[in-house]
Amino acid sequence: MALIVQKYGGSSVGSIEKIRKVAERVIEACESGNRLVVVLSAMAGQTDALIKLSKEIAETPDSRELDVLMATGEQVSVSLFAMAVKSMGYDCRSLLGFQAAIHTDQIYGKARIRNIDTDRLLKELDKNRIVAVAGFQGIDEGRNITTLGRGGSDTTAVALAAALKADLCEIFTDVEGVFSADPNICTHAKKLKRISHEEMLELASLGAKVLEIRSVEFAKKFNVPIHVRSSFTRNEGTMVVSENKEMEKVMVSGVVFDRNQARITMVKVPDRPGIAFKIFDPVFKAGIVVDMIIQNTSAEGLVDLTFTVTKTDFQETLELVREVAKEIGAEKVLGDQNIAKVSIVGLGMRNHAGVATTMFEALSKDNINISMISTSEIKISCVIEEKYTELAVRALHEAFGLGDEKEKN
Ligand code: ADP
Ligand code: ASP
Ligand code: MG
Repeated sequence: MALIVQKYGGSSVGSIEKIRKVAERVIEACESGNRLVVVLSAMAGQTDALIKLSKEIAETPDSRELDVLMATGEQVSVSLFAMAVKSMGYDCRSLLGFQAAIHTDQIYGKARIRNIDTDRLLKELDKNRIVAVAGFQGIDEGRNITTLGRGGSDTTAVALAAALKADLCEIFTDVEGVFSADPNICTHAKKLKRISHEEMLELASLGAKVLEIRSVEFAKKFNVPIHVRSSFTRNEGTMVVSENKEMEKVMVSGVVFDRNQARITMVKVPDRPGIAFKIFDPVFKAGIVVDMIIQNTSAEGLVDLTFTVTKTDFQETLELVREVAKEIGAEKVLGDQNIAKVSIVGLGMRNHAGVATTMFEALSKDNINISMISTSEIKISCVIEEKYTELAVRALHEAFGLGDEKEKN
């Protein structure tokens, strides 16, 4: 008897009809002789709606209470799902994060799972029940409700699969798997049969929200097999696997974009030791992730320093950095939110020269200006003007021949 963790995202449980369909699919998997733990997201749009409500009360809502509020989205979907399963004659229990003993650290809104105590889950499974767990939430040491960050139900599912030593973790979503580019932007995008953890980590961290990055980290660390597939069809999706020798090392496997990017430039910064530390220390202490950093060469003892953060963190970062600028005597701080990052990812890049040139050429053909570049072993990212995002994704997809036959003709 296999133990399977299935996760259904917001659009898969977006209506009562869809919740019933999910219940039928889960029951079918049980009928085939499997034990099932089902992780659910909030119904489509609900988390956004809750955040919007909180902003009507306060511009920056209290982070503890915001987590209490956001966690209710998943409470609605697990309870409705359990009712649906029971109405079909099967036994089911819904569990919230704290009942499923998903212990996290104390960082509201971005909590990390520390450990999961599986006793309760195993007891429910032993009673031949389907267990429905609310995704995206946990409990900290002080018994406060925490949430794991947007898209965090993927992480709940893979972490549960790891803790329970499940045979498989199936991520059901609104597309048929992981594609060579977002299929909603690039109609010629191709479904990948398999993708390595390394590539999936890059795609996730560079903006492909089909899997949340921490879920991939868990899968890699604990060797959890993930199958990303559609809730609306029966087709095979994409397996996320460890890199192995037989795997075809394609040069570029995917193009990805991230519009949630903003750029900050500190102009005429004194060029002396300790300045970078002074600028970034308060930013890091606020839990803000800085992505690309560029510093030009010194002219008359002054440099310009440019870096990117997410749009979500933009205002807070700007305020922190403006304080430092005053302190160290920099001329001014500029901000730009009209940017996006487009990236290409592929294991085969390690052994190929000229990949960057192809990327730059493709962007230049469409007259798209590149304002920042960063590279690693298996990815190249360019910052461009936000309005060119879709054009850039399609141009790169075509330049690297990633699509179906129609695109190549
Ligand atoms: P869920 O609600 O099921 O968690 P998400 O909206 O978080 O679903 O993730 C699925 C979405 O990810 C798709 O609808 C698609 O637009 C987007 N996406 C971005 N890049 C890719 C990609 N390379 N392959 C598949 N989907 C992608
Ligand atoms: N409901 C949460 C969100 O919208 C978590 C998830 O969907 O994975 O971000
Ligand atoms: Mg998601």
